[in-house]
Amino acid sequence: MELLDGKVLAKAIKAELKEKIASYKEKGWRAPHLCAILVGEDGASQTYVASKAKDCEELGMDSTVFRFPSGISENDLLAEVEKVNLNTNIDGLIVQMPVPEHINSLNVMMHIDPSKDVDGFHPMNVGMMFKGLDTFLPATPYGIMMMLERYKIETSGKHCVVIGRSDIVGKPMAALLMQNTNPGNCTVTVCHSKTKNLRELCLQADIIVAALGRPEFLKADMVKPGAVVIDVGISRVDANNERGYVIKGDVAFDEVAAKASYITPVPGGVGLMTRIGLLQNTLKAYEWHMGSK
Ligand code: NAD
Repeated sequence: MELLDGKVLAKAIKAELKEKIASYKEKGWRAPHLCAILVGEDGASQTYVASKAKDCEELGMDSTVFRFPSGISENDLLAEVEKVNLNTNIDGLIVQMPVPEHINSLNVMMHIDPSKDVDGFHPMNVGMMFKGLDTFLPATPYGIMMMLERYKIETSGKHCVVIGRSDIVGKPMAALLMQNTNPGNCTVTVCHSKTKNLRELCLQADIIVAALGRPEFLKADMVKPGAVVIDVGISRVDANNERGYVIKGDVAFDEVAAKASYITPVPGGVGLMTRIGLLQNTLKAYEWHMGSK
């Protein structure tokens, strides 16, 4: 079994991106600029936004966080999005999800200028991705595609089972794996909460992407020997330690690792590659805006 090491890979890709950004600055260009809009006080969202800002700093990108109280009206939030859309010094905009219930998240996503939609959630970019056109890819499946590419994992003609059909992971993952690309060209089966014969389907898979949010759901008796196993899940599970919890993936790591050819750890796997996906998208937005592509 070989570990698909997000830490090592993320470090290597960050070094490449840093060099590229430095070369643009040497030409006299401004730095790429990522903006995050954060509504309310959700702890996990604050942590995610802080780590994105830290990544930007490490690479020589600018970042700005606009914070708004959870009571902000949808119209006021849309007006703030519009201000960022019109700001030519900002390349990428993310509105950290979830937003409070009184705000329609789809309206917010649809309001982001598609050329700044570095999360790749705007329906226009989703459509472009499905068509196989050059656009922003949702960060998690994008990060997984980079991982498959860099580890030179053969995907063509392989049967891939994606567990989970969310808009941010499962659906775009399936779409990317089925494209006529490398990595890609998989025969994809998408499983979800209503799938009846999930174990049998998983046993036929050469590649499994587990993205359902159920800690240690995928057990060794669901995995074919030699399968490639990608664990997207991040769940907090109560534990008797200082923090009071541990982070678990969707895969029972020890027992599945004994059967798999490649496997991602949690933490240290897909999560770090997701951060790279966002940085790559921000750089793409910058290159478009600066007219180099
Ligand atoms: P979601 O809750 O939106 O979707 C979960 C999907 O799993 C649904 O489509 C549902 O049909 C399916 N599902 C649920 N129970 C199932 C079951 N018993 N059998 C088969 N399918 C089942 O979740 P999401 O946003 O796609 O996230 C999934 C997991 O990935 C979560 O743990 C989340 O925290 C994690 N996540 C990690 C990253 C990362 O960077 N590593 C990024 C996004 C999400």
